[in-house]
Amino acid sequence: MVKEIDKKQLEDLLTSLKGSPSLAHYSLTLYRREIGAIASSEQFQICCSVVEDPLCRDVSRQFFEPGMDVFYEEETPSVCRYGGGFFGFLIPFQIGPDRFCLVGDGVRDDSIDLWQLAALSRSGGGEVFSLFPYVESLCTATYQEVEEVANQVTRKIEQFNLRTSHKVEEPAAPQQADPLLAAVAQTLEKLDKAKTVTAGIALCCETLATDFQVKRIAVGLRDAEGKSYEVTGIWGVPDDLGSIPASALHVFTAADKARKTVPFDVQMSNLLPDLKATVCTSFPLNSQGERIGFLALFDSEIQQQEGILISMLSGAMAGKLLTILNAAERSKENALSEKLMSLTNTLLQIDSKEQLYEAILGIAADLIDATQGSIMLIDKDCESMHIVFTLGMTLNVARCLPVKVGKGIAGMVAQTGQPLLVNDVETDSRVAMANRLRFKSKSLICIPLKLKEKIIGVLNLSDKKSLNPFTDADLQLLTSFANLASLMIERTEVLEESFRFEQLSVTDSLTGLYNRRFLKSRLEEELNRSIRQGLNLTVLFIDLDFFKNYNDMCGHLAGDEALKITAEIIKASLREMDIVARYGGEEFCAVLPGTSKSEAMIVAERIRSEIEAKRFPSESDIPLRRLTASLGVASFPEDGRTFTDLVHASDVALYEAKASGRNRIVAAHTAPVAMEKQPEKAEQRSASAAAAANLAKTLDFNAYLEASLQSKS
Ligand code: GH3
Ligand code: MG
Ligand code: MG
Repeated sequence: MVKEIDKKQLEDLLTSLKGSPSLAHYSLTLYRREIGAIASSEQFQICCSVVEDPLCRDVSRQFFEPGMDVFYEEETPSVCRYGGGFFGFLIPFQIGPDRFCLVGDGVRDDSIDLWQLAALSRSGGGEVFSLFPYVESLCTATYQEVEEVANQVTRKIEQFNLRTSHKVEEPAAPQQADPLLAAVAQTLEKLDKAKTVTAGIALCCETLATDFQVKRIAVGLRDAEGKSYEVTGIWGVPDDLGSIPASALHVFTAADKARKTVPFDVQMSNLLPDLKATVCTSFPLNSQGERIGFLALFDSEIQQQEGILISMLSGAMAGKLLTILNAAERSKENALSEKLMSLTNTLLQIDSKEQLYEAILGIAADLIDATQGSIMLIDKDCESMHIVFTLGMTLNVARCLPVKVGKGIAGMVAQTGQPLLVNDVETDSRVAMANRLRFKSKSLICIPLKLKEKIIGVLNLSDKKSLNPFTDADLQLLTSFANLASLMIERTEVLEESFRFEQLSVTDSLTGLYNRRFLKSRLEEELNRSIRQGLNLTVLFIDLDFFKNYNDMCGHLAGDEALKITAEIIKASLREMDIVARYGGEEFCAVLPGTSKSEAMIVAERIRSEIEAKRFPSESDIPLRRLTASLGVASFPEDGRTFTDLVHASDVALYEAKASGRNRIVAAHTAPVAMEKQPEKAEQRSASAAAAANLAKTLDFNAYLEASLQSKS
């Protein structure tokens, strides 16, 4: 004979269902079929309810009550969407001879059907707009989520049914675990799909709360460095329970895999002061030989079989969490190397030291959110350091601050090569010093800049934006970046050094021609000789036309090649005794001693036409389809008597050649000057010659030739 179920038991069932986290937003109403009643809409009567939201419940009553027997016939849970976007579920079940329907409602779909809502408000005599804020405030769910909740509730009802039925039948202990086993199996399946640590923990704790009736749950998770365990309340206890040091872990978990149930004593209470409890049952979260945390259940009586299942669950949860954490670590590392790669590219664009220091300090500060910092480099004497760049303080002040290697924080790091992370400068025994006024927080990081084992300086950073202390993760990040920064500093130093060497040399490395510095001294020598010997001397300036375009369109390598070819053409057009130099980027200068302007014009034309005729690499890619040059010509004595005057006069002529259409030659046109052999007189005239050059009237090549032919005839 099956015992009839009483109202108190039903109320208990409903309260225990409502205690599950997934049902927090739902109203639950239990209907019981009136025995002997004829089939009508009144067939199922409400026997108890836990109401979370009265309005939702009213809407759901309107929807479900008229046809409850139809849902009952389904035998499986039904999920319905009604009234413009509300969700509800209905679970038919039987306990002994009694037939019940449980209705859950109180959540809504993401999208609300305004027309249906309006119809609903009309039927309730309400005004639709007044409903909006209310509907808006309801929790949203998807159809699948509501279905999932309905399935969970069904399982709990099955457990309840078993308990009530075996009260009257024989106790069948082994059977009791079956629904739990099914719940755990289902959770494990879902756990596999969890993507985040939070989702994995939520899933397992939900099963513990729903299926195992655990009322109070917390999880402790190891921090990145493994020094402490962050304890978070998941269900029925405060959220943030603080952290416990790794050395105190044994208080909660046993060394082996077993669970541990102990009274929540003073020691535990000291470790988790915000928690009040009597008994703590904990399960270690172990995976692949690593203890990543623990699961703590408070004040719950855990039966042997339940304990085994929870151990299984916590083992699977630990495995999943470790996989997620490792994957996160890997993707963080990948992200870091990608970031370092892109920073390398940024830093490679910089050629000057000042800009490099600025970029390095800016990037380092950005990486760890610091607002103050400096770069110090060790001097040649290896005993002192100087500040080369600062952030948050003026460089001039900083430059005056002497730093001795071995003294102070930066000095110590420069000496030992060991990075230093200080949480509090005043209490850290390694540094113990008063916090200087200009710093807002007492935490700082100092990283050595090293090239292999050689320490070249240090990178100091302080005052996090949040004013929190720096972390080990900051230190690691900065150490990776410091290696890159050191390399870049070395690279720029080498570049600057080679530039200095180039300055000292006489030739240009690309074309093999003399460089500008050498040209000046050679031209001055030749001018003196010309003045002394009363000889002519002509200077040609040759500049490639639209060379920037050529470079941009054909590439820098083709550009270099074109410069080499041009140099060859110019050299081949000159005599042994002539001097040719690369004056600047794509500008060449030739000095023709003993050559008058009219003679030089022929040479100039040879150079111009050869460049025009030459097939330069990828030349067809530029708009004019050929690379050409413009030339300016100036001669001693008529256009100037000094290096500066002659260069200026030919430059003015060259400018004119460019202005009048390019690919042409223009000569400075100054009135002929009588040749003077005495150097002192020549010197006196140089000023007036310069003035004349300034005013030089320039002519183009044909005009010049015509004029000179006429004067000869
Ligand atoms: P213009 O006809 O007025 O002289 O025009 P331009 O484009 O030749 O003159 P501009 O001075 O604007 O550009 C000169 C270009 O020469 C700039 C740079 O791209 C190129 N250049 C300078 N030095 C080198 C070099 O060593 N190698 C290469 N490939 N290009 C260079
Ligand atoms: Mg040019
Ligand atoms: Mg130029």
